Amino acid sequence: MSDFVKFSTEDTVGIITIDNPPVNVLSSDVCEQIERCLDTIASNAAIEAAVLIGAGRSFVAGADINELANASGAGRTLVPKLGHLLGKLETLNKPAIAALHGSALGGGLELAMAAHYRVAAPGTKLGQPEVNLGLIPGGQGTQRLPRLVGLAKAVEMCISGAPIDSGEAKDLGLIDQIIDGDLLAGSIAFAKKMSAQNGAHPKVSELSTKLGTPSENAVILDAGRKQAVKLRRKMFAPLAALEALEAATVLPFEEGCKKEGELFRQCLASSQSKALIHAFFGEREVAKVPDVRSDTPALPIKKVGVVGAGTMGSGIAMAFANSALPVLLKEVDPIALERGMTRIRTNYENSVKRGRITAEEMAQRLALIQPRSDYEDFNDLDLIVEAVFESLDVKKQIFAELDKIAKPECVFATNTSVLDIDTIAQSASRPEMVVGLHFFNPANVMRLLEIVRGKRTSKTVLATALSLAKSLHKVGVVVGNCFGFVGNRMLLPYIREAIFLVQEGTTPERVDRVLYDWGMAMGIFAVCDVIGIEVLIHIFEQDKTSDKPSHRVPGILEKLYQSGRLGQKTGAGWYRYKQDHKPVPDSEILAWIESSAKESGLQRRDISDEEILDRCTHALINEGARILEEGYALRSVDIDIVYLTGYGFPAYRGGPMFYADTLGLANVYARVLEFQKMHGSRWEPAPRLRQLAEEGRTFSS
Ligand code: NAD
Repeated sequence: MSDFVKFSTEDTVGIITIDNPPVNVLSSDVCEQIERCLDTIASNAAIEAAVLIGAGRSFVAGADINELANASGAGRTLVPKLGHLLGKLETLNKPAIAALHGSALGGGLELAMAAHYRVAAPGTKLGQPEVNLGLIPGGQGTQRLPRLVGLAKAVEMCISGAPIDSGEAKDLGLIDQIIDGDLLAGSIAFAKKMSAQNGAHPKVSELSTKLGTPSENAVILDAGRKQAVKLRRKMFAPLAALEALEAATVLPFEEGCKKEGELFRQCLASSQSKALIHAFFGEREVAKVPDVRSDTPALPIKKVGVVGAGTMGSGIAMAFANSALPVLLKEVDPIALERGMTRIRTNYENSVKRGRITAEEMAQRLALIQPRSDYEDFNDLDLIVEAVFESLDVKKQIFAELDKIAKPECVFATNTSVLDIDTIAQSASRPEMVVGLHFFNPANVMRLLEIVRGKRTSKTVLATALSLAKSLHKVGVVVGNCFGFVGNRMLLPYIREAIFLVQEGTTPERVDRVLYDWGMAMGIFAVCDVIGIEVLIHIFEQDKTSDKPSHRVPGILEKLYQSGRLGQKTGAGWYRYKQDHKPVPDSEILAWIESSAKESGLQRRDISDEEILDRCTHALINEGARILEEGYALRSVDIDIVYLTGYGFPAYRGGPMFYADTLGLANVYARVLEFQKMHGSRWEPAPRLRQLAEEGRTFSS
């Protein structure tokens, strides 16, 4: 067994150092080894106290998710082992002090709460983030946390999953002291002081003063339920956490732990938690590109340029400035430049008003963005992102211009949504330096960055793009150069199917309600209104598959365009909009839908919610399977991460391909065949889907 825990003594204090890099996660082995150290301390009369501390950058960042996820093997033993360790720690016959720094999260905080005392370095983060994985604290955290911080704060921490810092933790009583200076030395001194005190050392499981009265708790739990439904729509784990926290207020500690254990196991077995764990590992997996070694050197990106100060250009400039990168923002149209800079300023002002950044940070970020009406100083940039109109000719012209000005090692990126990267790259003498950096709107907020790999894009440039994504706090997913790449290519059949559904018998608001209730961040018609109807028409026109008769988009979209209903920006699209941007259903649309159906000789019919959902989701899945087959996505998880981080797909469903796996590919394939029978060739099953279904396999496999 490797040595993950080290034992030493300093004077009369036993020191247990958890050393399981990079972040000291608690595995079964770690738990067992800590227990052995506790046994040594308990039986050695020369030791008067124990200090539990983490090596490296953190105390303990959580339980080992790999082990938890492996429910068939070690996953079944980790939680009981942790429980056993916590019992031993709390009943140690000498004072036990948890010395925290970096992160004390999840199992890490649970371990600390079983000690008699907690001290922390300034800036330590303490929290119970299990809800982010569809779980609840399973190491007695729901029973100890309310005893230390009170029910209301415990509810907030378990539902939001957000950590608090050591200052707040001290005020709340979650820790006993903040240690400035050397943490170990301070902890040893603290341990000796506690050891010198007479009387028993506090066991958190025996505290009850903060547990509140039944009537107080009823109000807190009720508010918590409302918050959970709002913040964590459709999720089981936050409600389970509330139930476990409630148990802490009404049951003896041991009984409460049993209840927590039952609820934890239910969460762990749920499809929601499996999906969220898939997404957690997926975000790490996508950074690995098989033929780009992880030690491929990335080019230093210190100064960047953005061409085009429209919706995307201004957002992209903010994304860079938010990561302290200086940006030159170039625009041909002086009015558009003024508008772009105003948009940036207003955006930052709103962030200050909401308390997300300070006025000083706003000033710093604004100072990093310099407007330009020409290419002055563009000769000294490391990266230039083009974000002008979606026109191949304009983009080619810009790349040819930049090629003459920029230094040879400058990376050229285009933010195109669908255009061919290779054609754009040809207009520069450095096609190996050209890459697609497909940001999502709003670019300063959305986490997804599709990194589009052209035929000639060099591995160095890909490594640079992946490293840039990380420094922008985004998730970079490398995708191939096909029409619409991964995200938008899948969006087209999804939108097309939704429009067919309304023509055949339902309404935009019904489709959107079904999708929203299922967990999508927005209904697809509301999404269309954000994208803009003219943009969609333009994209459909360029999409070669749209020419086939079975694929042809119903004429209703063109009708919207011709009547100037371009979406949110014109106050009307599929919906009507007032100041608050809330979509309001419009009877005019229904009349158009009915007449469009009549023109196509369609008898409108009643369409079930199930059909609406299946046609929308299966359109995504079938196209995803095709993308995989053609090699434009490296793995099915890459497609999942694109949809989870860029398209509002519900995280607890794990992305379209993972969702298909949970349905069973044989079922998905059968459903696609049914749709093909009803609607013709646009539902032709992707060969990869058929193959995997017939072999009884999954996309993940
Ligand atoms: P936009 O119309 O808001 O902005 C484009 C800007 O580019 C305009 O202000 C225009 O004046 C400027 N411009 C044109 N030629 C220029 C030149 N030679 N030099 C400098 N500036 C020039 O468009 P947008 O929505 O920001 O889209 C820009 C690009 O991003 C497009 O390729 C689009 O497909 C892509 N994109 C858009 C979105 C979105 O949701 N809007 C999302 C992802 C990608």
